[in-house]
Amino acid sequence: MMLLVVGKSADTARMNIIVLGAGIIGISTAWHLRERGHQVTVVDRQSGPALETSYANGGQISVSYCEPWANRQAPWKALKWMFDKEAPLLFRPQLDPAQWRWCLQFLAQCNDKAFARNVQQIVALGAYSHAALKEMVKKTGIEFERLERGIAHFYSTQKAFDEAAEGVELMRQYGVQRRLVSRDELLKIEPAFTPYAEHIAGGTFTESDESGDARVFTEKLAQLCAAAGVELLYQHDILSLQAADSGKPASVQIRAKNGGAARRLSADAVVVACGSYTPLLLQPLGVKLPIYPGKGYSATLALLQPEKAPVVSTIDDSCKVAMSRLGNQLRVAGTIELGGFDMRLDTPTARARCEMLVRRVEALMPGVCDTRLPEEGGDPQFWCGLRPATPTNIPCIGATQAAGIWVNAGHGTLGWTHGAGSGKAMAALMSGERPALDFGFWGQSELRGLSGSLAATG
Ligand SMILES: Cc1cc2nc3c(=O)[nH]c(=O)nc-3n(C[C@H](O)[C@H](O)[C@H](O)COP(=O)(O)OP(=O)(O)OC[C@H]3O[C@@H](n4cnc5c(N)ncnc54)[C@H](O)[C@@H]3O)c2cc1C
Repeated sequence: MMLLVVGKSADTARMNIIVLGAGIIGISTAWHLRERGHQVTVVDRQSGPALETSYANGGQISVSYCEPWANRQAPWKALKWMFDKEAPLLFRPQLDPAQWRWCLQFLAQCNDKAFARNVQQIVALGAYSHAALKEMVKKTGIEFERLERGIAHFYSTQKAFDEAAEGVELMRQYGVQRRLVSRDELLKIEPAFTPYAEHIAGGTFTESDESGDARVFTEKLAQLCAAAGVELLYQHDILSLQAADSGKPASVQIRAKNGGAARRLSADAVVVACGSYTPLLLQPLGVKLPIYPGKGYSATLALLQPEKAPVVSTIDDSCKVAMSRLGNQLRVAGTIELGGFDMRLDTPTARARCEMLVRRVEALMPGVCDTRLPEEGGDPQFWCGLRPATPTNIPCIGATQAAGIWVNAGHGTLGWTHGAGSGKAMAALMSGERPALDFGFWGQSELRGLSGSLAATG
């Protein structure tokens, strides 16, 4: 891998910045800030980067498959799915006002006007982020099981395929290059699904999308950050934040996991990139963010017949699961559970959802992956993570009303896709520049739009 020596940009004031969180968003932010010459410290409770939600996601860099969850039909679908343990979306009501507030905000987004506005924002960030990712890969030479083979989507019923055609038309209006493909064309693009052909009505394909391992990318970028002078403080709990006040700088109280007293780090600015936990840290400062955890699962499977396994990252629409080839493994990921910060994998619901992923792979491509469950002698790597979901699917990137405290969180289903660009945009904003994209950054009054109105109600 090529090592990039980052230098100080001549025209930006050098600041001392603390980035909280070492997932894809925090590490990308740290990288871009350092590249602009800022002094950066990253703090995370884990023993290394990408050990929470950025660890084993679906691997899709999905600029063109980016529709927000909130649409006209979403409330009815959610009701229908409420009692099905294997449903793509599961709402598990909690005695938690944050969950109910989030749901009300989500319902307010379930109309055509909000959908159009949200898509425009997500597409803009996606395009900016894809360009940023390419630029970073070119500069650093990072390898991350990248496959630039596009993303396919297939439908098992004619009704779903007809609806997909409407989606293609709609997304074209926003510049998304998605095309409808017949079953034969789909199987030419990705022959791995041939054994399932008789159940496929048709598909869609976006040539410019890609896939890769978010964890590997984040780990390697973190190594480059360290080599460029970023201080990485792992195994430290972040306890509280303090905004800048009366000449005192912003600060963070942290404590090492291995004991010892809490200590305070101060800085010119603090970026909170703690995924689903971001609102918990910011709420005491009066900053209310519409971010709620959306639990999802993945299984990583060894390949028994690599030559028959897919190389084009694909979504099976009927189960809403994504499959990505990551070297000599297949990652299958999906489902959303709105039920708080529950990270257990051993509950009946979690178990049912993980097994559904594995069964689906076996049905689509029998004998290609090792789909035996642990009790059958297999070794599927089951995992779950909490997507930091916003009601709009638009992340919160920008300044908060607490002096010296910034936010880069709420990337939901698309944190890997939007990671490179979110870090780059954040670094530009903090350096006093306007990033080159039409996006409602958090806290910018001239762009209040949606994020502003959610902030006000949240
Ligand atoms: C099943 C599943 C499939 C997905 N598939 C895709 C996909 O195909 N494509 C895509 O683009 N996106 C996908 N995503 C979404 C993507 O993984 C997330 O949006 C992204 O990982 C969020 O990154 P983050 O850096 O914001 O959060 P994280 O990776 O969770 O990082 C936050 C960090 O903050 C730290 N932290 C939090 N609180 C504290 C504290 N109090 N003290 C110290 N440290 C703290 C955590 O340790 C963590 O390291 C998927 C997600 C899931 C769950």
